[in-house]
Amino acid sequence: MVLREPKQPLELRNVPKPKPGRGQLLVRVNTCAVCRTDLHVVDSELPNPKLPLILGHQIVGRVEEIGKFSEEPQRPDGGGTKAVAAFAIGDRVGIPWLGWTDGNCPYCRSGRENLCDNARFTGYTLDGGYAEFTVADARYCFHLPERYNDVEVAPLLCAGLIGYRSYRKTGDARRLGLYGFGNAAHLIAQIAIYEGRELFAFTRPDDEATQEAAKNLGAVWAGGSDEMPPEKLDAAIIFASVGPLILSALRALAKGGIVVCGGIHMTDIPSFPYVDLWEERAITSVANLTRRDGEEFFKIAPHVPVRTQTQTFPLEEANVALDQFRAGKLSATAVLTIRE
Ligand SMILES: [Zn+2]
Ligand SMILES: [Zn+2]
Repeated sequence: MVLREPKQPLELRNVPKPKPGRGQLLVRVNTCAVCRTDLHVVDSELPNPKLPLILGHQIVGRVEEIGKFSEEPQRPDGGGTKAVAAFAIGDRVGIPWLGWTDGNCPYCRSGRENLCDNARFTGYTLDGGYAEFTVADARYCFHLPERYNDVEVAPLLCAGLIGYRSYRKTGDARRLGLYGFGNAAHLIAQIAIYEGRELFAFTRPDDEATQEAAKNLGAVWAGGSDEMPPEKLDAAIIFASVGPLILSALRALAKGGIVVCGGIHMTDIPSFPYVDLWEERAITSVANLTRRDGEEFFKIAPHVPVRTQTQTFPLEEANVALDQFRAGKLSATAVLTIRE
């Protein structure tokens, strides 16, 4: 399925099978989960995508061919390359958002490859997984925990990974608020509860069904994003792309608390009085992921165990999945399935 231009539906097209370059894997795609970022790309809320583009950055498939071994020199920072186990033909492989980094810029050299000046992103500046085949740099791919099947594991590759990076930014916060209780929040809530945090879930006002679901999962409190929690929070993560929520979260924080913005796109943040930030409260965002995040997350996820809720669509119905997602009509993560 090909995006020729933003704000247009994807087109079902026959495209030549990609050829793996040195160090790349040719992967036969089995499933690819749909992410809110895919919507941001289609809706032209993210600048300069590759065009035409194959979307999708939560890809699960099997290695079909391996490009001749990369002769690139070892990266100065070790590249996290020890994290990247070798792949053999037939191996199951997960392909995430971070598709390539230069290994050489000040960010890569200081263990922050997620901020690489020249990073390339799957399904945005590189072709992704809304397709039968894709190629990916083996160094950025993951082996996936065996307890999950190809549908269950797909949403972990972005909602899980980037959610996990947001969660880690909250340090050892005991009382954790999650604003926007969608897919990423649902995954991270399970880890937070597993690690003994007290979870406060904020949904759209009046969304009682989601509040109930959060309580069933183990949240100590659930309410509307316009409400104050019964106790001050040590940290909050914003998963909804609504700027004003940052201010609601800030006002719910205890001294020294942090608000982490987990999304790639958000509406503007209104101005607010300095006193709301005073006393060492902080606001930060999370961008992309590092391979270390992936390694840590896939280690912990099967122990929790983090469970995903999915709804499958055949690849040809990608537009239906995107439309339903945009309209808020999905009750689980959409996962595209690709027939052999
Ligand atoms: Zn770099
Ligand atoms: Zn994503």
